[in-house]
Amino acid sequence: MDYEVRRVEIDGEFKVCPVCGYKDGFHSMFRREGESTKWMFICPNCHSVFDPGFTLEGTPGAQKVSALGKKST
Ligand SMILES: [Zn+2]
Repeated sequence: MDYEVRRVEIDGEFKVCPVCGYKDGFHSMFRREGESTKWMFICPNCHSVFDPGFTLEGTPGAQKVSALGKKST
């Protein structure tokens, strides 16, 4: 993974990019780490990746996707 993940602490709301000032929110991305999945956010303007520390429960039996987002089979 050739991008920097910036840790952020959400205080009030997380809508404006702290890097470039883009005002209209973020794309979502997810990264599996062991048994949990991290929920991170990408600025649509400057493509910075932000990690506010959210994790999601895995869903047993769900179909795995590769790092490129394509089916692994
Ligand atoms: Zn940005």
